[in-house]
Amino acid sequence: MDDLIQKAAADLAQAKMVSALTGAGASIESGIPPFRGKGGLWEKYDPMEVAHIDSFIQDPVKVWNLLIKDMKDIVDQAQPNDCHKGLARLEELGKLQTIITQNIDGLHQMAGNTDVIEFHGTFAWQRCMECNTHIETRRVDISEIPPHCQCGGILRPNAVFFGELIPQEALWRSRQVATDSDVMLVIGTSAVVQPAALMPVVAKESGATVIEINPESTVLTNDISDYLIKGPAGDTINRIMADLDALL
Ligand code: NAD
Repeated sequence: MDDLIQKAAADLAQAKMVSALTGAGASIESGIPPFRGKGGLWEKYDPMEVAHIDSFIQDPVKVWNLLIKDMKDIVDQAQPNDCHKGLARLEELGKLQTIITQNIDGLHQMAGNTDVIEFHGTFAWQRCMECNTHIETRRVDISEIPPHCQCGGILRPNAVFFGELIPQEALWRSRQVATDSDVMLVIGTSAVVQPAALMPVVAKESGATVIEINPESTVLTNDISDYLIKGPAGDTINRIMADLDALL
């Protein structure tokens, strides 16, 4: 493990273009549960019942009550953890250029990263399904479920539900970032949600070193990742940053 931490620090020290792909595991230490794995939301709910666009259109009250309301409470309270802070510092050092995140919690930006591609949109805003007005989630009155826009339309998170397309700009830019990377850090993602999980593959095919940080191995581990550092995101990033500081 120590060897891999040192190797990651050395790879980062040498790299000119570093990117990161982050998933729900990067925010677990901020108190936001993941979808899959131990304590994941899918232990409680069927994803197709609560996170598919067809379910939302059919029964917005149910999806707001089962998923979105709880998510709002959790995301409203969440603060960046050591993983987010470490990645912000990596940008400050001029090493990390872009984060592609599957998360919708805004914690990378709160930590200070300035180039964050929100691959699955953001939970920070709700949008009206009728007139497309955007309203900050923390300003939305949820005493009535589902909440409504002034025009009477139903509000929905400005995030991507299962069954919806990825915003074109996010997809296009992510591919470009993956292609240009010398090193891609892949942190806290099970890498089963497509097309996000394709980005490490694109990076690898373009010659990047792919470094996974995750307590568990994933579908990328054997074929795509150069190595997996098995551990929680915050502690692992702290240790890599300490070694990197000694090298710079
Ligand atoms: P996932 O739920 O499928 O997998 C979580 C991964 O995190 C697993 O591989 C797990 O081993 C790993 N993990 C667990 N604890 C960890 C830790 N302490 N440090 C690092 N890794 C840890 O997550 P996913 O691959 O991101 O896919 C789920 C989808 O759900 C994403 O598309 C995302 O949009 C959405 N989601 C977002 C949030 C959020 O915004 N924070 C939370 C839940 C789900």
